[in-house]
Amino acid sequence: MQTITILGATGSIGLSTLDVIKRHPDKFHVYALTGNTNVLGMFELCQQFKPNIAVMADEVSAQKLHTQLQSVGSEVDVIAGTDGLLQVCSAPIVTTVMAGIVGAAGLLPSLTAAKHSKRILLANKEALVMSGDLFLSAVADNNAILLPVDSEHNAIFQAMPPSVQAGGNLKAAGVEKILLTGSGGPFLTKPLNEFSQITPEMAVAHPNWSMGAKISVDSATMMNKGLEFIEAKLLFNASFEQIDVVIHPQSIIHSMVSYSDGSVLAQMGQPDMRIPIAHTLTFPERIKSGVKPLDFTQLADFSFCSPDLSRFPNLGLALEASKVGQGATTVLNASNEIAVSHFLERDISFDNIVTLNELCLEQLGSSRPITLDDILELDQQTREVALGLITQL
Ligand code: NDP
Repeated sequence: MQTITILGATGSIGLSTLDVIKRHPDKFHVYALTGNTNVLGMFELCQQFKPNIAVMADEVSAQKLHTQLQSVGSEVDVIAGTDGLLQVCSAPIVTTVMAGIVGAAGLLPSLTAAKHSKRILLANKEALVMSGDLFLSAVADNNAILLPVDSEHNAIFQAMPPSVQAGGNLKAAGVEKILLTGSGGPFLTKPLNEFSQITPEMAVAHPNWSMGAKISVDSATMMNKGLEFIEAKLLFNASFEQIDVVIHPQSIIHSMVSYSDGSVLAQMGQPDMRIPIAHTLTFPERIKSGVKPLDFTQLADFSFCSPDLSRFPNLGLALEASKVGQGATTVLNASNEIAVSHFLERDISFDNIVTLNELCLEQLGSSRPITLDDILELDQQTREVALGLITQL
């Protein structure tokens, strides 16, 4: 029986995780659920899953949730803030932490889980992109287990030999290339002269996946693939040259690994996050996820092409940042979070997401953060610079 904390329980990853978990009451005890401001969503989850603890990062929301739960006689304890998040990641009873918070807010809880030797199921790619080797060292130094939930990284992990799954060298295992696939998002064929008219509603309407707003916009700009490139480089200790991005609009192949003998192993499945979530929950054992297997006789043709960096300049920026190093990836992650949130608020145009990212990288991308404090300071500094720049766009 695993005892689990689900960070970001009210979000897309959190709800998919709970959907898998409820199919296996003999395997999982839900210890804690966390959210930020979605009181109604968390109230309903508390009623259904009866965790020991519910955490709301936002203090006012925690107070509202507490009042609502008390009014129905619920025994769920409500706690608040970052301290609350850290508490449910470090509690000795917890074996497993689903890292499903969106953005940099997920770093400290995930890092705390690593420092307390938990099994971490990592969906929150931003935490890894912004902290890189520091996060991986915390995992290694504390014998924590890190399993990738992101569908591409989970696919790569599944197509890797056990030696690489255990942290071994790619070349020694005969791995030539990681082929990181991406659908290309909703604007793969949209005329470029219409990009400045893209609205938040158009950007969040992903053709294949149903996801939270931030990652949906990142998919539309292909920044998501850029963040995933950085994530793959870190998770599999790969060089820049060992990873190729391949566009595969159907999102049936979730990524591939190419070997020295000419074999290419692909992981396939419906575009449904319950598959990688179920895989990480009980790896190496397999459990039912609730997702139907593919019916190959009903599938349209598979197609592939290279990404066009003039259409998706954010992907190019992320690839460059991955070469420059940790400072650049920390800056890019922070500026992109600000840019996407202000695009969603209609303060800036779709085109200006990349402009803001470029300007922040120019100003701060050569920074060299070493400690956690350096990283958090650079993240904060970038957000302040980005907010200042927005008023000039
Ligand atoms: P959602 O926006 O759907 O959910 C985000 C979750 O994080 C919510 O529970 C939200 O709480 C919580 N949250 C937001 N801000 C804070 C904060 N400041 N402090 C604490 N909690 C906060 O996002 P997704 O589920 O789509 O994505 C989560 C992560 O998983 C992202 O890093 C994303 O890149 C990654 N991922 C997602 C995939 C998907 O299919 N959705 C696929 C692969 C990776 P509240 O609801 O109260 O606001």
